[in-house]
Amino acid sequence: MKGLYIHSCCGPCLYASWPLLPKVQTNVAVFYNPNIEPPSEWARRADAFLDVCDMLGCHGIVDTVLGDTSFHSSIVAGRCAVCYRARLERAMVDAKNRGFERFTTTLLSSPRQNQPLLRSVLQELESLIGVSVFFFDQAPEEYEARVRDLKNQQVYVQNYCGCFASLVEKERFSLRGLWE
Ligand code: SF4
Repeated sequence: MKGLYIHSCCGPCLYASWPLLPKVQTNVAVFYNPNIEPPSEWARRADAFLDVCDMLGCHGIVDTVLGDTSFHSSIVAGRCAVCYRARLERAMVDAKNRGFERFTTTLLSSPRQNQPLLRSVLQELESLIGVSVFFFDQAPEEYEARVRDLKNQQVYVQNYCGCFASLVEKERFSLRGLWE
């Protein structure tokens, strides 16, 4: 059996999580996020993920499967619950097929994610798929400090979660002064 399969939503969350993860030589980090709009942003984040893997000395793989029309329609209806499940189910099945003993996700590090929802999806998939999940908690200030550190090293750090709705929310927030 191999070590830890680290599902990585992005490079910054992988970099933030790193001090909290068990270090086993056979660990692998896999970038899988079909829910990033627009496609140029997906490519930018995939590049930043590979930069972070180089910095950490971690074997990194980019899963290039993107969301199709039905995936994006289901996200509109179910938002983060559907998004977490779709990403983590595919990644966990991949971990099982590759013979990994344990699975984790860098989504667990982020104070911007819905942690109770994420954890309940992980627990459900753990018993359904049969791969043990490594759960961890990261203090928000520690997460922010790690992400700042990465930014200072000139690695790209995004400022919205990924989907079209989160992009619109970010734009609305940054433009709020124009009509308030
Ligand atoms: S906000 Fe983030 S987690 Fe929620 S649906 Fe959008 S990309 Fe997925």
